[in-house]
Amino acid sequence: MQAANEPRFDYSFESYADTLRAYREAGYEVTSFDTYLREPSARHMILRHDIDNSIEQALRVAYIDAEAGCSSTFFLRVHARGYNLLSLQSMQILQEIEELGHEVQLHLEGGLGEWLGGDNLQWADRQRAAFEAAVGRPMRGFSSHEPARMGGLEFANQLLDRWSDSVDYHAYQERFMTPQMKYLSDSSGRWREGHFGLWVGKEPLMQVLTHPFWWFEKVPAENY
Ligand SMILES: [Zn+2]
Repeated sequence: MQAANEPRFDYSFESYADTLRAYREAGYEVTSFDTYLREPSARHMILRHDIDNSIEQALRVAYIDAEAGCSSTFFLRVHARGYNLLSLQSMQILQEIEELGHEVQLHLEGGLGEWLGGDNLQWADRQRAAFEAAVGRPMRGFSSHEPARMGGLEFANQLLDRWSDSVDYHAYQERFMTPQMKYLSDSSGRWREGHFGLWVGKEPLMQVLTHPFWWFEKVPAENY
């Protein structure tokens, strides 16, 4: 049995929101990449969400982040099967996320040429153009989808060079990763170094990546 006041470290939204509040109480700013780059604090967590397949789930998390006094960056795909970024419903969600004070950027795929033929850099240009059509403004940053299997860091760095006219960052740059920042991720529904709630106060600078798909109010099947 668990005591009533003891924090839980699981995938419930309750545990998630409690953890965000714990960071705030420990003096961390918890923000989007955008805010971190403009106004870094001595204790700062960049909160990142990669939205692989459900944009509705992104909106749930956007509300929780805002209620906990945090902002975050949502990276959205243009090639997801689970949502169409240009559908009216998605665009409304996108607006709502931004109105809550969060940042929205592109979750970018590499390796499309393996399936579709053609040049991966040009496929990336086309993703950027589609993303910018949806948000109606220039893209400032991106995170790679499935970097381990899809071209990874080298491709992301190449794109950053190619797009240096207006793109400020990608999420796997060294300056946002261990050891410069403690990087924690819930990839595949598994915190390799423990739930992010176990890290409060241990590292001054952090990047925490969540995939909202893994998180739920009562049971995981809410999401699929
Ligand atoms: Zn992804």
